[in-house]
Amino acid sequence: MPLRLNVNHEFFRRTRREKGITQAELARLAGCTQSAVSMFEAGRRDAVNDATIQTIASVLDIDLKGPDATGAEAAAAAFVAKYCPIDDCPSNFPYLVRNRVLLMPGIVNSAVQEKTRCRLCGELLESTCSNGDCMAPVTRGACCHLCGTPYVSFIGELNESPELFVSRRQTEVRNLRESMQNQSRHGFIGSAGSCDSDGGSRNGC
Ligand SMILES: [Zn+2]
Ligand SMILES: [Zn+2]
Repeated sequence: MPLRLNVNHEFFRRTRREKGITQAELARLAGCTQSAVSMFEAGRRDAVNDATIQTIASVLDIDLKGPDATGAEAAAAAFVAKYCPIDDCPSNFPYLVRNRVLLMPGIVNSAVQEKTRCRLCGELLESTCSNGDCMAPVTRGACCHLCGTPYVSFIGELNESPELFVSRRQTEVRNLRESMQNQSRHGFIGSAGSCDSDGGSRNGC
C-alpha cells in the first residue's frame, strides 16, 4: 500500500538548489533517473515512488512531515485576489479610456475558501472573471487577462460628459475611501493611486 505522501514539489527543488546539488547528483544518490527527479520537481507526483521520495528527502535533509515539505503551509497561505462586483462601490475606482468609463477594482487578497465581504459596501467579493464562460482567476488590472472582460462594468447612466463624471466620481471615491479607512485600521489594498498611473492603453481592455 503506497504511502501517498503529500509533497510540495517546489520546496524539494528549492532545497536541492540551496544545497548546491544538481538533479543528476540527486538522481544518482536516490537511485532514480535525472528525468524522474526533473519531473518530480516540476510537480509530477507519479514520477517517483514513495520510497524514492523518502530517499530524496533524507539526501536533502527534508522532514517529510514538516509543513514546508507537505505544502500545508503553502495551502494555508493560498490567498487569491478578489474584487467587489458592485459598479458604484467606492472600492472600484473609475477612470476614462477612449471616452468610456472603466472601473479599476480595488483588489483584496483573501483565503480561497473564505467568503469575504466588501469592506466598503458589504457585497460578497468575487475571485473569478465576471464572464461566466471564462471564470479565470482575478489578477490586477481592470479587465480579465484571458477574455478581456472588465471585472466590473459601469452600468450607471451618465447625465454629464464622461470626463466630468469620472473626475467628480474620482473625488467622491477618494473621499469615501478616506473616511471609511479612518474608521478601520485594516486598510484594504486599493488602487486609487495605481490606477491613475496604470490608466490608459494597458487597461483599456
Ligand atoms: Zn463593494
Ligand atoms: Zn475572463
